[in-house]
Amino acid sequence: MTEKELETINIGMFGHIDHGKTTLLQKLSGKWTDTHSEEIKRGITIKLGYADTTIYKDKDFYNIEKKGIPVRNVSFIDCPGHEMLMTTTLSGAALIDAAILVIAANEGIKPQTREHLMTLQAKKITNLIIVQNKIDLVEKEVAKKNYEEIKNFLGKEYENSKIIPVSAQQNVNIDLILKEITEIQIPDRKAKETPIFIVARSFDINRPGTIPKNLKGSVLGGSLKQGTLKENEEIEIRKITQKENIKIKTKIVSMYKGSEKLKEMFPGGSTSIETELDMSLGKADALSGSLVSHIEKLPEPQSKITLKFTLFPKVFGISDHVEVEKLKQGELLMLSINTSITGGAVSLIKEDSVHIDLKVPAFLFKNDNVAIARNINNHWRLIGYGEIC
Ligand code: GDP
Ligand code: MG
Repeated sequence: MTEKELETINIGMFGHIDHGKTTLLQKLSGKWTDTHSEEIKRGITIKLGYADTTIYKDKDFYNIEKKGIPVRNVSFIDCPGHEMLMTTTLSGAALIDAAILVIAANEGIKPQTREHLMTLQAKKITNLIIVQNKIDLVEKEVAKKNYEEIKNFLGKEYENSKIIPVSAQQNVNIDLILKEITEIQIPDRKAKETPIFIVARSFDINRPGTIPKNLKGSVLGGSLKQGTLKENEEIEIRKITQKENIKIKTKIVSMYKGSEKLKEMFPGGSTSIETELDMSLGKADALSGSLVSHIEKLPEPQSKITLKFTLFPKVFGISDHVEVEKLKQGELLMLSINTSITGGAVSLIKEDSVHIDLKVPAFLFKNDNVAIARNINNHWRLIGYGEIC
């Protein structure tokens, strides 16, 4: 198989700040500027946090230096570790098939490490690789103890996840991570269903002074979650926020995966769509968070949601032990639905299901996973998750 024919897996990077996510990502993908060269050529501003690569296998050596045969394409998404950006992390989780959780051996498990693991659990991301990083900084005994600590921390949910001791900085065991990535089973892509493209970024790719006849339409960057899209097809872009209710029809002019032009787009990897839309509409991420599908194929937005929910036993992301209290009638919760974050008030609670009135209507897909957060001492804290009924 050639690189082009290989499937692409989307992997999110998680972990406490400074534990080495960005360093590791550079070692795993190698080529920040290279992969985005097409974007540079076309004048798109690069947003850090995306990196695509192909993993090769040379006998038993897994590498990204094109030695041996290509075995898997990977699209990495770097999720920020700071708690202020928890909402971004949650949105990122909507786009991934698997995750890497980085834990620095010299610091061990931190509040955000726990919070990220809970996020993954809430979003039903079961494919997880644990990277025990910075082993160059600790003695063997400390590394061993830390390893056991991680094992306990993972609990039943993730007891089968591999823990790989690594030094990202010194290039130790990077190949073992690459090998593990090739062994993750790619989930069913539902290529035959209605397409749903999630827009993560949108841009105006025209350089100042371009003559009108050469102007290009808005470009949407993101991920196709299911279905397929074809060149020249008519599409509909939908986005709802407190201020806007966007429903626009346009046409696909061209599509790209990295520098490769696509006639047809399949789920997996980060891709972009050039549309006929006026460039000012897509400028500066104005359309990020939108959903794209064929005309009239997306469900109508709903302002009531019913979830079959599970609460965590305690609140994560803080050092103190705080138990999660039961849901209360009328209380305000924050829900992460697809890539959007929406507030809502609890209107009815039955045993394991809850009805919530959303402040802003949302596009709901049955059986999708929703993370539930509650405001505790002025911070939104993840308290559980639910499945859309
Ligand atoms: P992030 O906040 O999780 O993205 O962490 P960074 O990748 O920015 O790394 C934070 C710091 O740790 C940087 O100074 C890195 O050079 C350093 N670092 C990352 N990996 C290693 C490692 O394996 N060993 C050592 N000694 N330092 C590392
Ligand atoms: Mg970073």
